[in-house]
This record gives sequence, structure tokens and C-alpha cells, in this order.
Amino acid sequence: RVNRGDFLHALDEVHPAFGVSEEELQSVIQNGIIRFDSIVDELLRSGELIVEQVRTSKRAPVVNVLLHGPPGSGKTALAAAIAQASAFPFIKLISPDNMVGMGETQKISAINKVFSDSYKSPLSVVVVDNIERLIDWSPMGARFSNPVLQALLVLISRRPPKDRRLLVIATTSNRPILTDLGFMDFNAVMRVPPITSLSALEYVVREVDLFPADEDRRDAIRMLRDAGFDKKSRDDPSSRLQIGIKKLLSIIEMARQEPDSVAERLTTALMELDL
Ligand code: ATP
Ligand code: MG
Repeated sequence: RVNRGDFLHALDEVHPAFGVSEEELQSVIQNGIIRFDSIVDELLRSGELIVEQVRTSKRAPVVNVLLHGPPGSGKTALAAAIAQASAFPFIKLISPDNMVGMGETQKISAINKVFSDSYKSPLSVVVVDNIERLIDWSPMGARFSNPVLQALLVLISRRPPKDRRLLVIATTSNRPILTDLGFMDFNAVMRVPPITSLSALEYVVREVDLFPADEDRRDAIRMLRDAGFDKKSRDDPSSRLQIGIKKLLSIIEMARQEPDSVAERLTTALMELDL
């Protein structure tokens, strides 16, 4: 049985050399989590349940989940938000952005170190972000780093030492490739969808205060509706609107720079996405 003393001692053990880097988590959730659709709440809720499973289950010391979805749909931010909400004493991100310029060997030892550090904490979350980029997957000739792949395959399902529990949250924009490469046995798989409805888009626009006046916002949405953004055709049952939250937020920030023609800017930018 773990008492409070053990727990505090465990915390001492993992701080400050490793542990939770708040800045690291914050930096990937820079723009917060906007609840533009019920799916966002559902994803966070699923994450919460998985965290509870890791916290309480005696049988599954390691749980690994996959967040997949199109580029910019918000996978990294959601993974970080779920990790942060766990309040586990050890939370770490393995991200290709932090490994720029590293060779294969260096990468593998950095990845290994994160996992072995996590084993020192009773409860840990490791986010393995953008697996296809971590292994340098290239569609040209289907090349990738096999040593990095093998290391990841082993580490994300390896049982931690006794009395240690680990949640691994992996992300990818290319689920089919991951399956082909052997990542098949995730405990849970969650899809992070792009924004496809004008009501979700309007929610985001309102949340970030793009239009000071409600009327202007409604006009802008009408403009997009007139331009056919929420149309579904018979040939293509999917919505014409398909945009990741990341891209949408960057378009919004650009439109904001032109206070006299925000709505036009927004519409033009969305058109130019070649929808
Ligand atoms: P990539 O495919 O390039 O890796 P991604 O899918 O990982 O992109 P993020 O890097 O997570 O996307 O970018 C999402 C951005 O949108 C973050 O800045 C985040 O703060 C913001 N955001 C706002 N609302 C949400 C939401 N509901 N879900 C996810 N991210 C959100
Ligand atoms: Mg990402």
C-alpha cells in the first residue's frame, strides 16, 4: 500500500531533474482548447477515463492510446491537454520538434531516456507525438528509420517495473502507415476530426473575438454560407469545409490584421485552401 509519505518521496525523486515541464505542455496548447463541437468534449472525457483506468487498474500497468486525424486537427494539443489534466507527477513529450538535427542513435537514446525516467515515477504520461515524423517516414520510396521504429514499438507497450503505471499517448496524421509499420495493438484509438461545419467555425470565431460586433460575425458566416461552404454535393457527401483548428486559427489571426475587411479576408483565405 502506498502512503502519503511514499508518494511525496516519489515526487522528490522525480523533481526537478525530470517530471512535469509546464512550459513544454503550455507551448503546445498555446491557443487553448476551444470546445467548438461536442466531439472535443468527448475526446477530453475519453482521455479522462483512460487516465483513471491507468491510475486505478492493477492489471494494466501500461495503457497506450492513439490520437489520429488530418494535419492540424489538434492532436498534439489534445494529447497534451489530456496529459496535463492527469496531474500525474511525470509528464513528458517526445516530439520531432525537439529532435531536429539529431541522428538515429541520439534520437533512440533520447527516447529511451524519457521512458526510463518515467519508470522512476509511480504514475507517468509519455506523449509520443507525430510518430511518422519521429521515424522520418518519407512517402518517397516508403523510407523510414527502422531502428527508431523498433525502439518505439518496444517502448510504447513495455510493462514498467513493479508498482509503476504508464500512459502512452501517441499521435499521427497517417494512421494507415502506422498500421503497416506494426503499430496495431493500441488499447484505444481516437480520431480527431477537422472542422466541417459553419456552426463550429462560428463558435471558434466567437471564442477568439474576431468580430467585436455580433452582427458582423453573423454577416461573415452568412457570406460563407452563400459561398457554399456548408454544401454537400451528391458526388461528394463530405462537407466542402474541411479545416484543421490549427490552420483556422492562423487564418483568423491573418484576417484580424485588416480590421476593415475581416470578413472578406476570412472568406478569401478559406477559398484559397482549395476546398
Ligand atoms: P500537426 O498535424 O501539424 O501535428 P496537430 O493536429 O498536432 O497538427 P496542434 O499542433 O495540436 O495540431 O494544433 C492545434 C492548435 O489549435 C493548438 O494551438 C491548440 O491550442 C489550438 N486548439 C484550439 N482548440 C482546440 C481543440 N479543440 N483541439 C485541439 N487544439 C485546439
Ligand atoms: Mg501535432
